[in-house]
Amino acid sequence: MNVKHNIQLKPYNSFRTQGYAKLFCEPTSVEELSEIIKQYPDEKKLVIGGGFNLFFTKDYDGLVIHPQMKGTNIWYEDASLIEIEASASEDWDDFVAHCVDNHYAGLENLSLIPSTVGAAPVQNIGAYGIEVKDVITLVRTVNIHTGEQKDFTNQMCEFEYRDSIFKRTGDYVITSVVFRLKKHFAYREKYIDLSQELKGNKYPTIREVRDAIIRIRNRKLPDYNLLPNAGSFFKNPFLTYDEKEKLIKLLPNATIHNVNENCFKTSSAFLLDKAGYKNKRNGLVGTYEHHSLIIVNYGTERGQDIVNFIEEIRQEVHAQFNIWLEPEVRMY
Ligand SMILES: Cc1cc2nc3c(=O)[nH]c(=O)nc-3n(C[C@H](O)[C@H](O)[C@H](O)COP(=O)(O)OP(=O)(O)OC[C@H]3O[C@@H](n4cnc5c(N)ncnc54)[C@H](O)[C@@H]3O)c2cc1C
Repeated sequence: MNVKHNIQLKPYNSFRTQGYAKLFCEPTSVEELSEIIKQYPDEKKLVIGGGFNLFFTKDYDGLVIHPQMKGTNIWYEDASLIEIEASASEDWDDFVAHCVDNHYAGLENLSLIPSTVGAAPVQNIGAYGIEVKDVITLVRTVNIHTGEQKDFTNQMCEFEYRDSIFKRTGDYVITSVVFRLKKHFAYREKYIDLSQELKGNKYPTIREVRDAIIRIRNRKLPDYNLLPNAGSFFKNPFLTYDEKEKLIKLLPNATIHNVNENCFKTSSAFLLDKAGYKNKRNGLVGTYEHHSLIIVNYGTERGQDIVNFIEEIRQEVHAQFNIWLEPEVRMY
């Protein structure tokens, strides 16, 4: 069992901020993971996947677990559906590509999201009208404190918008995920950008949908290798009826989606633009020129510089619109 000491975490987060892990391990099996956890009962612990949704503001005084469990296997199959188990460290988009190549439908709208399979349920990744919870049947885990194994059915995961029991508690290392996918693909129009990219093709193939999403994402999102970032920084806020009415008085053309009669969702990107954060830079941190919700690191190694910038944004949006934006990205 190989546990290393004093490991620089900059290569392990897409914001490329510095921080040293006191202890660092890369277990390749569930058994090895359980053993390491049991060997370090008193250390605090953090799991990282691709590091696309987190960054470091200081050294991590504990054990960082970077699972290296690979492989997929068929769990169940009949004429109309297939259930596939994918290990936590599989690259998300490679797995989506594999499903699309085999005409297994359900994940194509989540093409090109930078992620490992194991992190996908943590914040219930979503894009183009679907969330990963829609196709998950089982999440297999190891308790991060005891090393015991536990399986979660979809219901037990308590999935919500960019949230789950795994994100809320931090108590489990996800070791694999079982997805239920359909063998017949039928396109359902859910997202205006996507329909436009498909140029009126009402019956696209699963491959055409994936290719269209890849084109849109490549146009809209910065390459994290050139402009380090962690995707959308803030969640879209939910508002009560009264909060929604107050916002409309301030911003009559605010984007509002009805969730139910007393719950409305507005757009963080829109609020940032209106608060003056379109393509705004403060030192080495700023908002991306084509998408205000993406905070870009223009050259700092200090996570605290990013924290300072996002705190400034939160204060300003609150001062102008009385809404506190909640970060989607995790800071350690
Ligand atoms: C350019 C860009 C675009 C993005 N677009 C989207 C998008 O469209 N939709 C969307 O939902 N997200 C998007 N994101 C966010 C990101 O892709 C997802 O949050 C993704 O799931 C992160 O995966 P990861 O493996 O890098 O997880 P990490 O960033 O390493 O970890 C994220 C969280 O999950 C936990 N975690 C990681 N692995 C495990 C595990 N095996 N078991 C338990 N906990 C674990 C970590 O402790 C941490 O709390 C984007 C990010 C970038 C950089």
